[in-house]
Amino acid sequence: MSIKRFMTSVAITAIAGNQLAGAAAPEPFPYIADRFADIEVLRYPVPDYENLTPKQRLLVYYLTEAALSGRDILWDQNNRHNLAIRRLLEGIYTNYKGDRNDKQFKAFHKYLKQVWFANGIHHHYSMDKFVPEFSREFFDAQVAALPECCRPADIATLTEVIFNPSLMAKRVNQAEGVDLIATSANNLYGEGVTQAEVESYFNAIKDTTDVAPISYGLNTRIAKKDGKIVEQPYKVGGLYDPAIRRIVDNLTKARAYAENERQGAVIDKLIEFYRTGDLKDFDEYSILWVGDTGSRVDFVNGFIESYGDPLGMTGSWESIVNFKDLGASHRTEIVSENAQWFEDHSPVDPRFRKPHVKGVTAKVITAAILAGDAYPATPIGINLPNASWIRAAHGSKSVTIENITRAYDEAAHGNGFNEEFVPDPEMRRMMDKYLFDTDNLHTDLHECLGHASGQLLPGVDPDALKAHGSTLEEARADLFALYYLGDPKMIELGLLDNPDAYKAQYYKQMLNGMMTQLMRIEPGKDVEEAHMRNRKLIAEWCMDKGRKDNVMELVNVDGKTVLKINDYEKLRGLFGDLLAEIQRIKSEGDYEAGRNLVETYAVKVDPRLHKEVLDRYAHLNIAPYKGFVNPAYKLVTDADGKPVDAQVTYGEDYTDQMLRYGREYSTLPTAECCKTK
Ligand code: ZN
Repeated sequence: MSIKRFMTSVAITAIAGNQLAGAAAPEPFPYIADRFADIEVLRYPVPDYENLTPKQRLLVYYLTEAALSGRDILWDQNNRHNLAIRRLLEGIYTNYKGDRNDKQFKAFHKYLKQVWFANGIHHHYSMDKFVPEFSREFFDAQVAALPECCRPADIATLTEVIFNPSLMAKRVNQAEGVDLIATSANNLYGEGVTQAEVESYFNAIKDTTDVAPISYGLNTRIAKKDGKIVEQPYKVGGLYDPAIRRIVDNLTKARAYAENERQGAVIDKLIEFYRTGDLKDFDEYSILWVGDTGSRVDFVNGFIESYGDPLGMTGSWESIVNFKDLGASHRTEIVSENAQWFEDHSPVDPRFRKPHVKGVTAKVITAAILAGDAYPATPIGINLPNASWIRAAHGSKSVTIENITRAYDEAAHGNGFNEEFVPDPEMRRMMDKYLFDTDNLHTDLHECLGHASGQLLPGVDPDALKAHGSTLEEARADLFALYYLGDPKMIELGLLDNPDAYKAQYYKQMLNGMMTQLMRIEPGKDVEEAHMRNRKLIAEWCMDKGRKDNVMELVNVDGKTVLKINDYEKLRGLFGDLLAEIQRIKSEGDYEAGRNLVETYAVKVDPRLHKEVLDRYAHLNIAPYKGFVNPAYKLVTDADGKPVDAQVTYGEDYTDQMLRYGREYSTLPTAECCKTK
């Protein structure tokens, strides 16, 4: 498996280099596109695109157009002022006549880059509102210099939203004991709507005996009308109509190039869903989609993940277009084929195991475009659909996006991180040798087995863990992956070729959970994001429970805190114990125990260690967050104007791409007239 993976990676560099240079001498792929604030923007190659058929490339093309058409939806979901602010900032940027090296202008450009990256005025990860480093005077002068018609009528409000740090301070608030809706600045809920009202509204309409419930609230904004709670559906003729029409238009064009009837039916059903807004149609679409395992080209397009909603219901709009990486998919096929074995041997109470794990399909994919909530920051693995009953009855699709993980890996090479945080040269050697493979395998096991494993006891509400559900679900999937990475079965199945390789992954995970991920948190702040809470929960719990056996420890070496793992076998045992407990919590819907685990281990940060990590990290000057610019696709037509193919090009700059998207994919209206040219 290592050999196959290595050859794939060599091919990526070679193909990309040739395409870029257009000549015999291969140049290295230009992975790094931009660097600002806490962000590094990368490019990713799309290896094997040229080996698709022209028909498949046309399918990819129209699906990428459908993907980019939904961009404005996410911006508006994130905050109701986002689109107006983006257009205002882009207007100022393009209209600016002064010195572009001026300190104020540079600070302005940095802020604009941050807003672009986050699809709005709040940081994509911390959810905190950005603080501009340019002056209000500079801003006011630029607004005044705009053509009259381009100055938004509500400029006073927009200025206040940009400059007043306490106004709309957080996009998604997860803090305990406050109204999560009132204190979150997203636009998924209308003004004056309270958490209690939303909860009682859904409690009243939810049929708890329904074995196939729709995903309540997934595609609606909740508002208040005449004192009553109403749902405003996102659909043709509803909210976001112009954007959704353009998505539908491109899906219709893509439909003509479907690889087979099944895929055609998937696209038809998605179009129908966008027209009706009926979540039953979405479920039917999801079932068709999960069953389409034969097509090379595939896509996600819709209101999918609910991390942007403090109550975890409404889906943020996103799209990823991709095609199967045939070589690397062999690895995930092995994992899938053995899904039942993994379920039967998992360290959880047999009552909580699935007697029949259904249709866990897994593949490695090559992303062709990232859009909506998957752009510029993007996941490296996906497991869909999210509806538990569909997963149970029809299975789920699980993917690892390997041209993205490869780009991360290539761009991170030699940045000094391992030298700083992993002083043991032997462990560094292991990480260099095994981490790319174990990272990918961890993602496969997490997405394709972890999330798909286990079952609820009859009558248990799938939302019983409420605000802690996402963290505990991620911990469950991670623990499943970690537990099995150290299992001899990995060697037996040929997934790893060294019985010690898993130790590199264990070390990295514990180091990340205890220390290095803290670089993403500002001093004095808690850990909030679900995946980060999950990693902290696992590491801190194992540190605590393993103390009596000295399983692992933090030691001081020359004034620096260093993680030492003394017993990898026992650590694996602890992963199994915690997996069993979290599965119990989920299966029984034990909210109190779940809350207790999260609050004890996953939230609070040791300020001394936090400061040390930030100081050591600052020295390295590594961006804690990364994201991507997309390749650009161009339609090729024949003499009659009929589409015959689509080409891919790389190398676009971050700012150029964002301005181009602003021009070409501006689908939703705002009050002001300013169109950036
Ligand atoms: Zn996950």
